[in-house]
Amino acid sequence: MGLRIRHEELATRAFIEHLRRHPLPELMDDECAAALANVEAQFGDRRSHGAGMEVRLGDERRYVDYILKFDVQDIPLMNSEWIEIDYEQFVNGGPIGACRFAKVNRDKSGDYRVFLDGTMPRYAGLERARQLRPALAKLTKAMAPEASIRLVGVMDVRGANVGLRLVLDYPDLDAIVKNLPALGWTGNTAAFHEAFTPWAEAGFTFGLALDVSPEGIGEKIGLETYWKGNAPDYVETVIDRLLDAGLCLPSKAKAIRRWIRLLPEVNPFLHTRFTYFKLNYMDGRITEAKAYLETSSLVHHFDFPAFDRPLRLDLVLSDEKGKSMPVGDTPALLDECAAERVNHLRLYGGEDWPELPRLLSACREKNYRAEIVLRKSADEDWLRRMIEAGAKTFLVEFGDDAAEKTLATLRSLGAGRGTENGAFVTARWRMHEENVETLPDLVKRLNELGVNELYITGMVPENGAAQKPPTMKQMKAAAKFIWDWRFGEEEQGGLVTEIDTCFSAMQLMMCSGGPDQSTTLAFFDRGCEGGRSFMALHADGSFSPCVHLPGEPANSFADYWEHSESLQTHRKKTGQRSACAACPYTRRCSPCPAAPEPVEKCTIKA
Ligand code: SF4
Ligand code: SF4
Repeated sequence: MGLRIRHEELATRAFIEHLRRHPLPELMDDECAAALANVEAQFGDRRSHGAGMEVRLGDERRYVDYILKFDVQDIPLMNSEWIEIDYEQFVNGGPIGACRFAKVNRDKSGDYRVFLDGTMPRYAGLERARQLRPALAKLTKAMAPEASIRLVGVMDVRGANVGLRLVLDYPDLDAIVKNLPALGWTGNTAAFHEAFTPWAEAGFTFGLALDVSPEGIGEKIGLETYWKGNAPDYVETVIDRLLDAGLCLPSKAKAIRRWIRLLPEVNPFLHTRFTYFKLNYMDGRITEAKAYLETSSLVHHFDFPAFDRPLRLDLVLSDEKGKSMPVGDTPALLDECAAERVNHLRLYGGEDWPELPRLLSACREKNYRAEIVLRKSADEDWLRRMIEAGAKTFLVEFGDDAAEKTLATLRSLGAGRGTENGAFVTARWRMHEENVETLPDLVKRLNELGVNELYITGMVPENGAAQKPPTMKQMKAAAKFIWDWRFGEEEQGGLVTEIDTCFSAMQLMMCSGGPDQSTTLAFFDRGCEGGRSFMALHADGSFSPCVHLPGEPANSFADYWEHSESLQTHRKKTGQRSACAACPYTRRCSPCPAAPEPVEKCTIKA
């Protein structure tokens, strides 16, 4: 149920098809777009974890070099590479050659022996490694202590059979300039410094790209700027500066602006990014700018206001006010789901909706994932009928003995971990100040009951009762327990533990250990996902971002998703509260708009 996987390998074909669905005529003319079929013919079936384009921003010609990312194995300090297929290689068909680039993981030993004698021969070939070794040994010795090798590239298809491309990371421009003479660069460092100072002053940080041959480094060098995210605000800054500097054509800028704003498709592992840009330097001036665009299979969805279509639709079949969804409405709804490529339904209130088996059968026929939320105890006969009708997932709201009995019954019916063809069982548990200490016992009990997953939530409404969120100390202890469990029992096939995206405070604690710790926030989603990755349809036919928020009328769920003004407002700023003003995470966290009290009491900002 949770989204622990951040990365998925897809067939190369999927990335090329995505590009065809979102054409970029300003960057690729008809001939270039058509020639991608040649790349597809050679690489279409190969699994890749991202595809990209190298765009020459100031060049009137409309073509790109195409980039694919693959895993590499058994090469010290490396785990993935990307191949860059020059346009000349794929425009005419026939066998395609490519340049290869791989990221070098920092050698913790502090010297470059592993790189020179382990990585190089395996990646660049024995002969090349032998010929380049003296030049590389000299270069690595001359590198400033704060510099490191970021990536290495071999470009045989461009005729560089002996040479090598290196990109070195430095903390700032001054460090690069200071180090260039020691590296053996014979150009004018003062002119180089002057050319790049305006970019450094604008806050850009650089990697130094240089070509190494047995004679040393070449005169042509480049600076690459990497961006941590794909947030349009950041990318706009880059594009504006490139336009001002005359390094980018307005038509190409327009295409990039469009590209970075494409919403991720219903597959969360397919979306667009701007990866980095590169400025080439030669003879005292910046000669050209290139941009690297990506169709990514990494989940970065906090960069986007919402998905193109909801990944999941939550249906309230019956509610506590006694309202029931008319049975006659569901066939049309399922048809709409098919038309909009939404194939995941979460069903609330099914215990009191007699037609649930029929709906489950229809979902099974259409190959939809139907998830039943159980808020009340359910007897064996009812659960058996639901499994027979096609229920694939049960989400049991856990909190009392009745819920535990339901989980035991599901187990006796063959659902849960380690059962063949059994339904998936999730226990959703709301953590608060009063019950947090019971977590270790709970995890062990659920594990024994064969439950697949524990989904830990918090800061969300619970039967109208406002529970106090756990304290920082309690969350730290809980986070430690969860990490220990994940590295131990969970890794051995035990119960999976997930943190609900709604529970921002605990998500932060899991990825950082708290605001006093340094963090990359790599595992922090953006808080409230209602109206961004899923939405709700209530029993009375109204729509809302989440079942906990009041509904409003709309013609269809697609109409609501695209046109509701209140939904647009919700996406821009979900529940940001004055109580959060002092919190360091306000840019990434969207606190729950349906649960004011727990958010007011969020301990993270303290
Ligand atoms: S204080 Fe507000 S913004 Fe900060 S983590 Fe808590 S809910 Fe999120
Ligand atoms: S409104 Fe958002 S944060 Fe609150 S429970 Fe719903 S999805 Fe979670």
